[in-house]
Amino acid sequence: MTYRAPVADIAFTLKHSAGLKRVIEDGLYDDLSEDLVDAVLAEAGRFASDVVAPLNSVGDKHGTPLRDGAVIMPPGWQQAYRAWAQGGWNSVAAPAQWGGQGLPHALNAACIEMWNSASMAFGIGPVLTMAGIEALAGHGSADLQRTYLPKLVSGEWMGTMQLTEPQAGSDVGALRTRAERADDGSYRITGQKIFITYGEHDLTDNIIHFVLARLRDAPPGNKGISLFLVPKYLLNPDGTPGARNDVRCHSIEHKLGIHGSPTCTMVYGDGGGAVGYLIGEENRGLNCMFTMMNNARLAVALQGVGIAERATQQALAYARERRQGRAADGRDASPIIVHPDVRRMLMTMQALTRAARALSYATGVAIDRTHRGHDGADRKAGGERAALLTPVAKAFSTDIGTEVASLGVQVHGGMGYIEETGAAQHLRDARIAAIYEGTNGIQAIDLVTRKLPLAGGGAMKAYLDELREIIVAVAAVNDPALGSTAARLGEAVDSLDRATAWLLGRLDSARDTALAGATPYLRLFALAAGGTMLADDALAAIRMTGQGADAAPRIAAARFFAENLAVQSSGLERIVVDGADSITEAELAVS
Ligand SMILES: Cc1cc2nc3c(=O)[nH]c(=O)nc-3n(C[C@H](O)[C@H](O)[C@H](O)COP(=O)(O)OP(=O)(O)OC[C@H]3O[C@@H](n4cnc5c(N)ncnc54)[C@H](O)[C@@H]3O)c2cc1C
Repeated sequence: MTYRAPVADIAFTLKHSAGLKRVIEDGLYDDLSEDLVDAVLAEAGRFASDVVAPLNSVGDKHGTPLRDGAVIMPPGWQQAYRAWAQGGWNSVAAPAQWGGQGLPHALNAACIEMWNSASMAFGIGPVLTMAGIEALAGHGSADLQRTYLPKLVSGEWMGTMQLTEPQAGSDVGALRTRAERADDGSYRITGQKIFITYGEHDLTDNIIHFVLARLRDAPPGNKGISLFLVPKYLLNPDGTPGARNDVRCHSIEHKLGIHGSPTCTMVYGDGGGAVGYLIGEENRGLNCMFTMMNNARLAVALQGVGIAERATQQALAYARERRQGRAADGRDASPIIVHPDVRRMLMTMQALTRAARALSYATGVAIDRTHRGHDGADRKAGGERAALLTPVAKAFSTDIGTEVASLGVQVHGGMGYIEETGAAQHLRDARIAAIYEGTNGIQAIDLVTRKLPLAGGGAMKAYLDELREIIVAVAAVNDPALGSTAARLGEAVDSLDRATAWLLGRLDSARDTALAGATPYLRLFALAAGGTMLADDALAAIRMTGQGADAAPRIAAARFFAENLAVQSSGLERIVVDGADSITEAELAVS
């Protein structure tokens, strides 16, 4: 079963619960029209479904073998990548000054979901190029920008993001890759990076590495990290790729999933040091990297949404075809979709996917407000909202990516465990997204320790107020089809409010207790917020009844989420508040 991009669903969520329509009406995007948004989504959906999706299993089976230092990408990938770049898909949200289309990040977010539904291994490569563009456009010198941005924006060259070393994973400050100042103002980079996505490949003529390294006289830890641009090929005076730089791929990893994405160990300085160019200031590299990381985290969130969408489509198709067992009304050999337990699995898959989509797109809209807000206050509010939602979108979407893909295997029964259906590949592919771009544990800690205290707790309070306003509106429509949606969501948001206050009260006095509750808290946040966003979409559909919109499926999705998933919030609140005391090292030592 292949993938068909759910363009109408994507457009609806993007415009309504995620807020794109509101900010278009507010004039945030100049003359951007909803028609243009629809046209871009439709075209992206076509490319993702027709060109990229058929390559997904090819990439899985072929992998990315390394021969004589060169990575051979799977058959058909080079042509597809080039057609993708020529179609302008790398430059959707890139700055117009460098050849980009300057369209909203939120719109690009929807496109990123579709690339990753089509193939996660394909979709992750451009994410790193886009992140590199952000860092270079935000912090690079005019000369570096002029030299590298046009080719990165067009997708003619791809980028990589290089933080990880054997002793420096979650703790980036432990990195040891060395940078030495050279007489000509450039630097010489020596050291080793591991797990580098698309560190070597044959899709483009040059690869631009964004590398974190440390100067000899740098302060220890995070304050002594600098960011360098290191091209695979140094450039000739006319800007074309010339001599090979002193960086190479030493080996590639054999891994659980995303086999079409080469994961490389990179070695710098066999011949004395790779030529690198400083981005931003010395020892301020982490600042520049944060620009990359926030966008990359949203993109990884969208990988979770994308894989969940594809797994759901596949499970739904299978459940309509596979005949097994007797339906409650006595029909024999019915399609398994008649069984309530199968329907529960399918509805859970769909509801989790839609909630994760809404949260991720809302993060994209907030990022746009950060850049384009009407005034300083608007941009600040956008920045705080983006900061608050980014870890929630990243961790929730990637967790549900795995859960939904696993349910997809379950819906297939034994056939799900057999590679030929493709359901197993989705599960294998999905698993990495909860680990890279900051593990989900690190996201939860970021949410609790850095995001909740933003604006003295004001950023979170403003968000809770907005969620409550939506719930009041849901109660006010008084539609019996919504069941107890408003009541269940109200309880979920109350749980979130109390758990927030509890954690904020312990950040200084009992930090370990707060940290122990971070992961269940993030889930609680996502269930309360995601459920409310689905209800917001249902409200929009109800308002649009008569304009051709069918509100019933959105009402059903919101109700299912509220009554079956958001109700887990009270248990999660209990875990946050009461569960931490039983999480001790002593307990583990006994076992
Ligand atoms: C396929 C793949 C592709 C990748 N691509 C890239 C890439 O392109 N560029 C790049 O730089 N890196 C990349 N990575 C590396 C990835 O970002 C790291 O693996 C990830 O950040 C986790 O680091 P680690 O593996 O060292 O795990 P560790 O940091 O050792 O973490 C192990 C466990 O301990 C937990 N933990 C660690 N520290 C804390 C803490 N302070 N508090 C609470 N829990 C903690 C983690 O949450 C995790 O569960 C990739 C990895 C893989 C597998």
